[in-house]
Amino acid sequence: MLTIQNFINGDFVDPISDEWIDNYCPANGFVYGKIPDSNKNDVQNAYLAASKAFSTWSKTTLEERSNILLKISELLEANLEHFAKAESKDNGKPVKLAASIDIPRAASNFRFFAHAITQFSSESHDSIGFNATNYTLRQPLGVVGCISPWNLPLYLFTWKIAPAIAAGNCVVAKPSEITPVTAYLLGDICNAAGLPKGVLNIIHGKGESTGQAIIEHPEIKAISFTGGTSTGAHIARTAAPMFKKLSLELGGKNPNIIFADCDYDDMLNTTVRSSFSNQGQICLCGSRIYVEAKIYEQFKTDFIAKVKALKVGPPNLDDTDIGALVSKPHMEKVLQYINIAKQENGTVLCGGNQVKPENHEQGYYLEPTVIEVSSNLCRVNQEEIFGPVVTVMSFETETEALQLANAVKYGLSATLWTNNLKRCMRFSQELQTGIVWVNTWMIRDLRTPFGGAKASGVGREGGFEALRFFTEPKNVCIKY
Ligand code: NAD
Repeated sequence: MLTIQNFINGDFVDPISDEWIDNYCPANGFVYGKIPDSNKNDVQNAYLAASKAFSTWSKTTLEERSNILLKISELLEANLEHFAKAESKDNGKPVKLAASIDIPRAASNFRFFAHAITQFSSESHDSIGFNATNYTLRQPLGVVGCISPWNLPLYLFTWKIAPAIAAGNCVVAKPSEITPVTAYLLGDICNAAGLPKGVLNIIHGKGESTGQAIIEHPEIKAISFTGGTSTGAHIARTAAPMFKKLSLELGGKNPNIIFADCDYDDMLNTTVRSSFSNQGQICLCGSRIYVEAKIYEQFKTDFIAKVKALKVGPPNLDDTDIGALVSKPHMEKVLQYINIAKQENGTVLCGGNQVKPENHEQGYYLEPTVIEVSSNLCRVNQEEIFGPVVTVMSFETETEALQLANAVKYGLSATLWTNNLKRCMRFSQELQTGIVWVNTWMIRDLRTPFGGAKASGVGREGGFEALRFFTEPKNVCIKY
């Protein structure tokens, strides 16, 4: 049994209450560890450690901060296999995915912000006619809260922590209680890299208690949150009266719009990935597929053949394409949506069932599922399912495709497949999303602004946007 502890002031400690939560292995459904069920006293201790560290950390040179972040990145890379196995066991994702995407990206997050902070600058404004000049100071905020979800555990956790500490803040961070292990392992790496005590504090526990204590802490100045839209709305309601700075990266229901003039094979292979990578549990997955009518039947035949060839199985096997879903309740939620689709006259073209691999019968496995729908208004086309389920639907005209793509409450990302440049430019302007991918999916340049429109979030992460979020701009005006 793995016992996870909180990481406060550089030390690993039990929760004050001595209360714990079971941690499940999605591959076989067994409990394999316990994690702290932290309360507001643990959060207060983390806050006090962070607050004490802030006066020194905020004054360290950029070179010093940058070197420590680079060291964390190097140590993550040196321990890649260990982290990838831990992430796969905790989350259910194929170990080859954790080793090729999750852990390398966590290392990149630290490396990227180690460099970005040395290039971050602010503006000056010469007030002509007033004999005055203005410059903008960009100062760290103080103690900030970072809260992340379970789908890309270390990847998203570090995407917040790295810019926060690079900018000179100290952090109270909470990973998802469903996938706590790699965040726990990060504590050792931070100590080995020489991160001063208290700069990063990692508290484990449930959203409604531990997370709640972070968001309502009066001295935590900002919350960077990634998770569900309803949680984001609750955080906004809680934090707004305290005037906390908020960055909210929320749910998505992303369209994948396919025109007949695209590079067909490239589209097909990428669409399999954008539908089912990480068991469809990526906020950027293209879960609504719209195909131009003239290639619709061909697309269905070819797509379904490829989807049926995906291998569902234990995440530790090298030939597994689709691992386990993250938890039993989540698997049940996804199965429920498949039933809703049937009740709404959707046609399940492939998949739809639970899978029970040998010796893993209690694990949380589902077949990759493709559902044909006739109305964009059905629940499976409007609500985020966040599992290995996509819908397909045909369209006749460009106007119709755009209308279908935009007719949801979410606005995170969109993918467009076409070789028509004018159409590409029109769609890029008109799609109501924070990200548009044209003839590709999931290329991520860490300098770009990342985030969603509409119910998919507020604010942007990535590049200097993240460093702007984690700093307070102050205008200094000097008359001479
Ligand atoms: P969730 O909202 O249930 O939980 C996310 C985190 O918030 C967890 O750490 C949880 O413990 C915490 N939390 C829950 N209630 C809280 C509260 N009252 N106060 C403070 N913290 C609280 O989301 P999830 O199920 O872990 O993740 C899936 C969701 O995340 C999906 O909707 C997905 O689209 C979204 N997501 C968005 C992005 C993005 O970049 N936009 C990326 C990944 C996932």
